[in-house]
Amino acid sequence: MVQRWYVECPICGKLYQIKMQIDMNIGLYEWPISFECLECGENLDYTFSKKGLRPKKSDFQPSPSDAPITTIGYSSSLPISDELYMKDLDYVQSMALSSPYMNLTYSGGFIIEEVHQFDLFLQRMQENLLPYKGVLLSLLPIFKKGNVDAFSKKMALLFDMKRYKPLTSSKGMYDTYFELIEKSYHNLITPYYYEHYFKRNVKPLSDYLNGASSADIKAIKEKLDESGKISAWYENEAIPYIAEAMNKIQKLIPAMIYSSVGESDVAKRGNLKIVTISCEEVVSMYSKGFETYTHALKIMVGLNNIVENGNIDTFTNPKVGGVDSIDKFARLSGGKMLEHLEDYATIYDYLDGAMNNKVRNAASHGEGGLEYVVLTQEVKCYYDDSDRSKHYDTSLIAICRICYVQLLHILEVTLLARKIVEKVN
Ligand SMILES: [Zn+2]
Repeated sequence: MVQRWYVECPICGKLYQIKMQIDMNIGLYEWPISFECLECGENLDYTFSKKGLRPKKSDFQPSPSDAPITTIGYSSSLPISDELYMKDLDYVQSMALSSPYMNLTYSGGFIIEEVHQFDLFLQRMQENLLPYKGVLLSLLPIFKKGNVDAFSKKMALLFDMKRYKPLTSSKGMYDTYFELIEKSYHNLITPYYYEHYFKRNVKPLSDYLNGASSADIKAIKEKLDESGKISAWYENEAIPYIAEAMNKIQKLIPAMIYSSVGESDVAKRGNLKIVTISCEEVVSMYSKGFETYTHALKIMVGLNNIVENGNIDTFTNPKVGGVDSIDKFARLSGGKMLEHLEDYATIYDYLDGAMNNKVRNAASHGEGGLEYVVLTQEVKCYYDDSDRSKHYDTSLIAICRICYVQLLHILEVTLLARKIVEKVN
């Protein structure tokens, strides 16, 4: 079912028609709509829920004599095909257009079976994750304060439990919080990701930790802690990042379809658009995640060194000279880490865009670092401050995809780090 709304830019008054795919889940949660005004550049943010559109829709009434109206197709969970994004349509055209769903499969981006497969993943996420997406963030202040009693009460409130067994120790509180993180993670990964990344890259490390002696794990922790305590990393960086990101996870959903079909090259699936998050917001999320992830890459690489080469300091095909220990690696910049890992296939393939230095560098150059074209959703990243002729060209939905991959990786390394710390305690 498709509904039409009209909204007006509050700054310049430009009128937009939003054609929404009303999915069966649309009444259950608040769905984000976000796009930049073509005329004035204002970021327009709306939410749609069972209460309708907020802020209020325009009371414009379409009639056959209208001039063409800029139309945006919207789906809460699917990418938008180019034909349905920012096109000026007259009355007849705008009434005749098919739905975002139909257009996506019709335009050749994804075949119906793939969309169906993605839909199964979405259903699971809608049941098990989206109703609780804000839980980690709500619990965070109390968790940080370490008040076990308050934490128990808040848990009962959030999950609507009339009878519950109060937690009695700080460890119980930690375990509960990490259990929530783990559940979030498992509902956030697609079956394809589970088969191809989780099983190949994460499970072996987790299995190793499960089987290792506490003396071995203690030695690993000491090595990893040399360049900054891993428990401090997850407490101060990873958890706040995860809690914030999970709370707005809906904004990335349309980009998750690439993970569902195992596609890393977004362009191969056509010129698709996303209208749930602004360029500014996703880039800032990505950059913050980049810093967070860089500080923990040592854990992933160190454990992989052990599993692959029998020693935490032994890298597979090391590149940059002089880096012969995990401690030295941990002290490199993100960019140098990447260089060092170039021929380390297990890790490099696994990263899959989670550490795109060019996007992150461009973002750190402030005004002018990134150039976003609203009409095409192309993003030019000027990553080299000293040479304006160098730019990396990508798209909004491609950045959303790597932001999602990065979040999964941060979740994985957080759970591994916790396992290490827990087994030493
Ligand atoms: Zn405007």
